[in-house]
Amino acid sequence: MTGTDAVAPVSDAAFRLLIAECFGVSKPTFQGEGRSSGVPALFIRLSRCNLTCDWCDTKYTWDWNQFDPRKESTRRTVADLLAWALASPVELVVITGGEPLIQQLALIPLVQGLLAGGKQVEFETNGTLAPNSALLVDGVRFNVSPKLGNSGVAEDKRIVSSALKAFADSGRATFKFVTRMVAELDEISAIVDRHGLAPVYVMPEGTTAEGLIETTRLLADAVAARRWHFTPRLHVLAFAE
Ligand code: SF4
Repeated sequence: MTGTDAVAPVSDAAFRLLIAECFGVSKPTFQGEGRSSGVPALFIRLSRCNLTCDWCDTKYTWDWNQFDPRKESTRRTVADLLAWALASPVELVVITGGEPLIQQLALIPLVQGLLAGGKQVEFETNGTLAPNSALLVDGVRFNVSPKLGNSGVAEDKRIVSSALKAFADSGRATFKFVTRMVAELDEISAIVDRHGLAPVYVMPEGTTAEGLIETTRLLADAVAARRWHFTPRLHVLAFAE
């Protein structure tokens, strides 16, 4: 048995999740990064995070000093979210945040309903919370993104060995690191080696197309030399203003 199993799976369509935004239906889009980069996708972005990364680009999901949770979040039932997603022919549903696994018990009936409706599910997670075993099923994958020292978060909060082990053992995870410096590849190597993480994806940091192209060229040879994967941020290249 892998993951955290202390609480039995919940099956309750009336469960409510704290949601920042859902998109991909009225304006079609695709997964912008990682293994499924370029695949048409729906997105469910959950509010709240257990980390406070300096460069976080979704602070509206958790920074209640800077943002008003009454404006930036809403509670939606599992039944409501299922109706929204299952009405679309798009097969891939990306559940992101914030840190979605903070609400993972309420996510179990949502994921079960999505799978029953023929969807595939990808979680975007910071890798600090081990997944409940009810989420370790066919049709579910995890894009785990451990944070580096450049996040400004203390190491013992951002690198949680037991959680990383659960993801690595699940066989359902890829490990994605965001950086803009060749010098940080050694830090990534240390985390990867210590926790036995594979496969490894490196993604250039950047919120503009020009910045991403520059960082991609800077990192490409060094990433290739380590035999790691390189992932673009297609959504930034395609949609950033
Ligand atoms: Fe933002 Fe992700 Fe860091 Fe949370 S883990 S603060 S959502 S970048």
